[in-house]
Amino acid sequence: MFKKILIANRGEIALRIIWACRELGIQTVAVYSTADADSLHVKFADEDVCIGPPRNTDSYLNIGAVIAAAEITDADAIHPGYGFLAESAHFAEVCEACKIRFIGPGPNVIRLMGDKARARETMLAAGVPIIPGSRGTISDEQEALRVAAKIGYPVIVKAAAGGGGRGMRLVSSPDDLAAAMSAARTEAKAAFGVPDVYVEKYLKAPRHIEFQVLGDAFGNVVTLGERECSIQRRHQKILEESPSTALTPKLRRRMAEATLKVARSVGYQNAGTVEMLLDEDGRFYFMEMNTRIQVEHPVTEMVTGIDLIKEQIKIAAGESLSFRQEDVQQLGHSIECRINAEDPETFAPSPGRITTFHLPGGPGVRVDTAAHPECTVPPYYDSMIAKLITRGNNRMEAISRMRRSLEVMVVEGIRTNIPLHRRIMGDPDFIRGNLDTGFLERLLERGEAAAAAS
Ligand code: ADP
Repeated sequence: MFKKILIANRGEIALRIIWACRELGIQTVAVYSTADADSLHVKFADEDVCIGPPRNTDSYLNIGAVIAAAEITDADAIHPGYGFLAESAHFAEVCEACKIRFIGPGPNVIRLMGDKARARETMLAAGVPIIPGSRGTISDEQEALRVAAKIGYPVIVKAAAGGGGRGMRLVSSPDDLAAAMSAARTEAKAAFGVPDVYVEKYLKAPRHIEFQVLGDAFGNVVTLGERECSIQRRHQKILEESPSTALTPKLRRRMAEATLKVARSVGYQNAGTVEMLLDEDGRFYFMEMNTRIQVEHPVTEMVTGIDLIKEQIKIAAGESLSFRQEDVQQLGHSIECRINAEDPETFAPSPGRITTFHLPGGPGVRVDTAAHPECTVPPYYDSMIAKLITRGNNRMEAISRMRRSLEVMVVEGIRTNIPLHRRIMGDPDFIRGNLDTGFLERLLERGEAAAAAS
């Protein structure tokens, strides 16, 4: 087992990894930018190294600085968390070259899945259903028009290297395709450094269902079941749950089989997530595979009782999975609300000093956060400040625990989206489990209409 792990991340996920290391008896090294000098991950790690000024590219994305910190502290492995360097094949290669274990899959798998167009082709060859669309990337407008005419409008133009809901353009008619392609290419080049795009059918009112997988170095691959992440704003998740209300046991089995096929076809090692879209007719399609731990992993932990971060570390250290597929059970129901530092109406980020910070507790409540009273939320990073997670013996119990938790959670000094989560918890469609990726937009429109009428 590793003696010391460097955590190349910040915020709640850095702390989450520190807790897992403590349980495993592994020493930890925190890295931080000057904006995070007073952060809890720095306080609770055994050692810490400042890796640069606030800007991402100068600190948390600075491969040279992160590797130097690992070498100075003699760390055996690096856990990248999510975001930042977690899906950088280059970073994984540099770790390998420096004899530091990267806690994640190998660089080749990261690179393959990081190119969504190539991932689609690979899945097609493996016999996994993909959303109808172009074969590979498309640069020629005439070809894009032909593909779109064949699959039918609306279509979506997507960046091959995309992530975080960026680099996507919805196109409803052939007249708009050329402009959308050019805009998506520009956006993709600026955000990801690669302009390549592809075209696929835009599904009407789909549900986002993803499956967690774990694979070890001995070819054992298991799935820990699904998470439903259909509640999104601008293609970004804000609430997740497990299990999904959309799946019958039979459909769950079929999607789990497809998930295992995806993972096996690339010899997947470590934790990963296969994201799929489920259409109104119950057909599902592979969308992409994320080769890292996800923000929403706690809902899976709550219903399976498996600690995903500890499993990631054990797999990277060369241990075989300690359980088989038939040992995995989804028990009860879990919901996660992402608490963001943002204006609940305009969604503009709301960084600053938190004056009052009061967390809920009691049975079935978990909060993953690095925030505390008198801490400062810096403006440089993601706006998520906490994940509020509940578990119940059934969905209604998980909802009532979430409601009472949201009622007593107090964050003052900055603005948060807690009021939005309270609204979702009271929404009849949410309570019925009547969800699709357009849910939140409809909820917000109803709110605006009600405000206009009053
Ligand atoms: P990213 O990697 O940027 O998060 P994804 O490909 O995972 O992008 O898609 C994010 C979200 O965008 C999905 O959960 C879904 O809501 C929407 N989306 C993506 N592709 C389609 C599609 N073909 N049809 C309908 N919605 C889509």
